[in-house]
Amino acid sequence: MTPSAEIVLLNGKFPVGMGNRTALAVAGGQVVAIGDDREIRRLATLKSTVLNCGGRTVIPGIVDAHCHLLATAAIGLRVDCRPAVTRDVAAIVRALRNSAASKDGWIRGHGYDDSPLGLGRHLNRHDLDRVATDRPVRVDHRSGHACALNSHALATVGIDRLTPDPPGGVIARDDYGEPTGLLLEMDDWLRDRARVSEDPSPGQMRQAVRDLGNRLLAYGITAVTDAGPSNGLERWRYFEETTADGTLPLRVTMMVGFDRLEEIQAAGLGYGATANGGALVLGNAKIMLTASTGQLRPDPAQLAEMVVYAHELGFPVAIHSVERDAVVAAALAIGDAPPVKAGYGSRVRDRIEHCAECPPDVLELVAQSGAMAVPNPGFLHYDGERYLSTVATDLLPHLYPVGALVARRIPTALGSDAPVIEPNPWASMAAALSRQSAGGADIGGMKAPSAAEALVLHSGQRRITPGMPADLAVVQPDPLMISSADLPNVRSAATIVAGRLVWRDVPLSQ
Ligand SMILES: [Zn+2]
Repeated sequence: MTPSAEIVLLNGKFPVGMGNRTALAVAGGQVVAIGDDREIRRLATLKSTVLNCGGRTVIPGIVDAHCHLLATAAIGLRVDCRPAVTRDVAAIVRALRNSAASKDGWIRGHGYDDSPLGLGRHLNRHDLDRVATDRPVRVDHRSGHACALNSHALATVGIDRLTPDPPGGVIARDDYGEPTGLLLEMDDWLRDRARVSEDPSPGQMRQAVRDLGNRLLAYGITAVTDAGPSNGLERWRYFEETTADGTLPLRVTMMVGFDRLEEIQAAGLGYGATANGGALVLGNAKIMLTASTGQLRPDPAQLAEMVVYAHELGFPVAIHSVERDAVVAAALAIGDAPPVKAGYGSRVRDRIEHCAECPPDVLELVAQSGAMAVPNPGFLHYDGERYLSTVATDLLPHLYPVGALVARRIPTALGSDAPVIEPNPWASMAAALSRQSAGGADIGGMKAPSAAEALVLHSGQRRITPGMPADLAVVQPDPLMISSADLPNVRSAATIVAGRLVWRDVPLSQ
């Protein structure tokens, strides 16, 4: 017997392949019945929340398969130095100075762009010394892989001409060996080894996380994977708290930084561990593989060892791979490694994150590796013009090649990589479908076959069925009926996570 419903959705539209259904019922965290309005209305009681969808489309909740929650939340607390807001160095200096008046301690900015379409060069200590000489100033590059510090900040974290480059990082230096203020791949070093408290207060951060949660729900996102390369036990505890107290009212899968695997295991947590009734899940071991400093770090032999080691501990890996050489190395390391030691069966899958530069020969290696690809087509939407002016013409069609991955039947999930770009899954689907930037510039390459297919890539579900977890969004306009140019404007009117109505934009009632 079908239990009485906690939530009833009436007068909705459902994705293709679901017949003429218009309504569904939710109870106990699951979808319990799907049918027409008359059938489903009968399951409602006086206690049920009844929503009239007004003809809007009911979809499985969107999954952002790769983002960085706390960094995205923190951006709301930092000075916006993106080229769209601050067009030159002088504007950045002004914006940072203005914020300096209102806060104590570190002055933090984010999003500057050294490309020809941004500033045309990196920021340096001399630029930032114009902001302040008596307080530390730090501005992060849009990629998250570099930052610039002023002289006071360099002194605060203990960097001078005698400081050697830390493993995996680079301290940029001028012709005289003096640090320029630019640091590459030194986020962890700054956070862990410099031990400088520069983050917002816990209360400020909580509010920023709450705001971000609502932003995600408004897009119809019901689950995210946090791909933080330094996620460890402390981060797990933070997500435990915030998914339990409603600060983060959506599902979170937390990857574990490779260097934190022992720490996580010592706490008795293994791959697939859950908390708060499945609201929080422990995911893959995250490995950073970069070529941004000119050579692959770690090198292919070290990488192979790391994958084998993670598998031995029972963790599938997720390898950050942007450049062609990195994607090749990741695919080979995963393909050659013995399987993950665990009893999770087919649910265990290694992942290649970003898969940015992926021409056909590389894509073939990805296919043979058996890994899931997690590209970020949203970059084409938000940064298409930059790619057109900075990426070799023959490589452009193979950037974040969602259509080609699908055609080769490679398991694929889409992620935003926020905070690098806005976590708008509809922009990411639009670019997968159109291979166009927001401004309409053609990037070229194979398009995803249909909006319905793009939705499957971003939700992991082909249809809504009784028995599935009630992670749902009621969206408008209908993403399956509009042009890809309009797709980025789709928003959720109501979002349900694990059978609870956690977001409502417009009054939807009978
Ligand atoms: Zn990332």
